[in-house]
Amino acid sequence: MGTSPRVVVVGAGICGVATAYHLAVRRGVPDVTIVDPRPPLTLTSDKSTECYRNWWPTAPMVALMNRSIDLLEEMTVASRDAFHMTRRGYLYVTAEPRRVDEMRTAAERSSRLGAGELRVHPGLVPYRPSPEAGLDAPAGADLFVDGDALREVFGFLSPKVAGGIHVRRAGWLAAQQYGTWMLERALEAGARLVRDEVVAIDGDRLRSVDLAGGDAVACDAVVAAPGPLLGQVGRFVGVDLPVHTETHLKLAFRDHLGVIPRDAPMCIWVDPQRIAWSDVERAGLAEMGRDDLLGELPGGCHFRPEGGRGSTWVLGLWEYGAQPVEPTFPVTVDPLYPEAVLRGLSTMVPDLGAYLDHLPEPFVDGGYYTATPDNMPLVGPTGPDGFVVAGAVSGYGIMASAAVGELAAGHVVGGSLPPYAEAFVPGRFDDEAYVASLADIDTGQI
Ligand SMILES: Cc1cc2nc3c(=O)[nH]c(=O)nc-3n(C[C@H](O)[C@H](O)[C@H](O)COP(=O)(O)OP(=O)(O)OC[C@H]3O[C@@H](n4cnc5c(N)ncnc54)[C@H](O)[C@@H]3O)c2cc1C
Repeated sequence: MGTSPRVVVVGAGICGVATAYHLAVRRGVPDVTIVDPRPPLTLTSDKSTECYRNWWPTAPMVALMNRSIDLLEEMTVASRDAFHMTRRGYLYVTAEPRRVDEMRTAAERSSRLGAGELRVHPGLVPYRPSPEAGLDAPAGADLFVDGDALREVFGFLSPKVAGGIHVRRAGWLAAQQYGTWMLERALEAGARLVRDEVVAIDGDRLRSVDLAGGDAVACDAVVAAPGPLLGQVGRFVGVDLPVHTETHLKLAFRDHLGVIPRDAPMCIWVDPQRIAWSDVERAGLAEMGRDDLLGELPGGCHFRPEGGRGSTWVLGLWEYGAQPVEPTFPVTVDPLYPEAVLRGLSTMVPDLGAYLDHLPEPFVDGGYYTATPDNMPLVGPTGPDGFVVAGAVSGYGIMASAAVGELAAGHVVGGSLPPYAEAFVPGRFDDEAYVASLADIDTGQI
């Protein structure tokens, strides 16, 4: 492909916007058209918890996230902090001593893969806290092998904690501002945004895409970044992409009692747990057919404070029942989600139990994780010449988007690609041995 193809980007979510930014701004491609029937960044990309981390269990994911965070840090400087990137870290917590040992083993592996130095506490090197704002925090991770040492730093945690790991090249940002900043730069560099839906792609030689409004856009390359509709857009060119979608919800509530310190990191309770319903509540749930909430629920219940010092908002998430579903919009919300999440979180932070008699007014939204069997993204060519996918970014699309956009743009324009590129091409799923090897993998997903 020449150096200046006419490119259509399908979808103005964070992956499409990042791809358009890399094509138009960093690669100087003059003819880039982003097509989306919705306002930019409004289907999934404004529903996230907006967090990032470089701490992943496989080499390609560590490399992709390190590159993405490098780019995010560059853009933080270039945009004069337009999207308020923080570096508070992710704190994974357990009440089970054997899980502290598992954390150490997993952490040693991530560290070897390039995620940064591992420091153990109590130990010789003192623990250095993260700043409330800004990026001046150590990289790597701090493993607390003793619950008391962990609670000396994070006093709001349950006295039952046995240990935890504070991952440090991690935090959050304002995803909408980040995406808007990239979109504005792309439009300034000549990209076009068209409010319409791509309904067909000329699959034989990629000459044009057809829009629902009746127009066609001539092109030499198409980047498919349609989020949860990736399977559908793949079928436009006769490609069956290995993706499924799962509903993921998010609770926001006002912590008016000030239980969660405003400078807390993202905190994740890794242990499975049972909610301590009363007998009456158990009977009621059984009658409602909600046996799913009565047994052991998975680990991964998590929260983070949202907003600065003046804010009381907290975001809480717990995916206790994610199953593959066909995406429909808006997502279906479980009416018991707020209560289940608050109960789950009060295992990690007992003072949150003060809210269980009178739940704070809950705000729940959510979207779909679009994921592959290895929970790694699909970025690269497939199907007809010039067709490139950029998606299946599951629960990490905000953090990965900068590197995914850069990689998708690299596939379109040609030339050398980073070493991790091969791990993300859709063709990896044609390899039966690779697919068979995925039976018991640790995907690192929360
Ligand atoms: C509850 C929740 C919490 C999350 N937390 C995090 C987090 O903390 N950190 C993180 O990194 N990620 C997180 N994620 C994941 C992240 O939000 C997604 O991975 C990411 O937003 C996906 O971006 P996308 O661009 O692929 O898709 P989307 O944002 O869904 O954008 C796709 C766009 O394509 C358009 N489109 C679809 N079909 C067509 C068509 N035929 N023609 C034209 N346009 C089309 C759609 O209208 C849409 O605008 C979370 C997700 C959820 C649901």
